Amino acid sequence: MRWLNLQPGDEVICSTLTFSASVNPVLYERATPVFVDCDDISWNMAPALLAEAIEHRLKQGKKPKAVILVHLYGQSADIDPIAATCAKHAIPLIEDAAEALGAVYYGTAQRTEDSGQMTTAKSSSVVRPPSSGVAPGSVGLCGVHSFNGNKIITTSGGGMLTSNNAKLIDKARFWATQARDPAPHYEHSEIGFNYRMSNVLAAIGRGQLRVLEERVDARRRNCAFYQAAFKDLPGVAFMPEANFGRCTRWLTCITVDPRAAGTDREKIRLALERENIEARPVWKPMHLQPIFKGCPAYGGAVAERLFENGLCLPSGSNLAESDLVRVVEAFRKAFDRR
Ligand SMILES: *Cc1c(COP(=O)(O)O)cnc(C)c1O
Repeated sequence: MRWLNLQPGDEVICSTLTFSASVNPVLYERATPVFVDCDDISWNMAPALLAEAIEHRLKQGKKPKAVILVHLYGQSADIDPIAATCAKHAIPLIEDAAEALGAVYYGTAQRTEDSGQMTTAKSSSVVRPPSSGVAPGSVGLCGVHSFNGNKIITTSGGGMLTSNNAKLIDKARFWATQARDPAPHYEHSEIGFNYRMSNVLAAIGRGQLRVLEERVDARRRNCAFYQAAFKDLPGVAFMPEANFGRCTRWLTCITVDPRAAGTDREKIRLALERENIEARPVWKPMHLQPIFKGCPAYGGAVAERLFENGLCLPSGSNLAESDLVRVVEAFRKAFDRR
């Protein structure tokens, strides 16, 4: 955000369905976020709505200074049309891939004809090699990654900035290490941050990178287990795996349609909690958050519905089958109690 040289009143377009950390840096630089809704295909930013939002902002005489695209819950957004829209208007694209390390985006060239449609568990099990796609976070001006404790690879805390722009990386490294000017003494002509990762933590992260594919397999196995176990439950649906990518299933996310299910997300969450099993609602959209009150928003109904009906199930890479069985039994009890 600092690289963009934002001024108060400048606008940055952001995904509304995300964690607040995607958006806070816009406020650190005193600019204003403008929120765009997600779609049902990938739960990520809706490409057509983004195009509309940009056109509308341009008509207001406010050209967005950047788009922050989030790749949620281990699934790539549909990057190609979004990158094309950004390129058309010369707006920098920044990718928040904090939840998507290990995910793959195959892109337009790789699409099948039903592209962009929801895939069933069966059709999405056609596994294409990750090497035939790109990593979310590697397409835009830069990508941000997280190694926080809950991510697929963790160094307990910290993250990573990636870019093909060497000047940007050099400047980010400068700012992240207390902005020390090149001099034998401590000389400062800019205000910096202590945003660097320690060498010890970086070493731990590099070790885990080697087992990333195994972690993805484990997370996908969790999801497949839940899918098989809840097949007969009415009103329970899983986050679709869009066929333009490979989702890591970092978290297994479901939605519960209360009318079909006869129970709801919250009753199920509480039933799990009673058995000491933590499950959390899907992200509360940013356009509903007190800190972002008054910021412009385009759409929002899809994200609101996912928040209302969505639940993230226990999804750790180290869950044993007995753990999954325990979750499934507690979950099914909520249905038995209808
Ligand atoms: C975890 C997360 C972040 C923040 O990562 P930190 O390492 O905690 O700063 C940012 N965006 C999303 C979408 C996340 O899930």
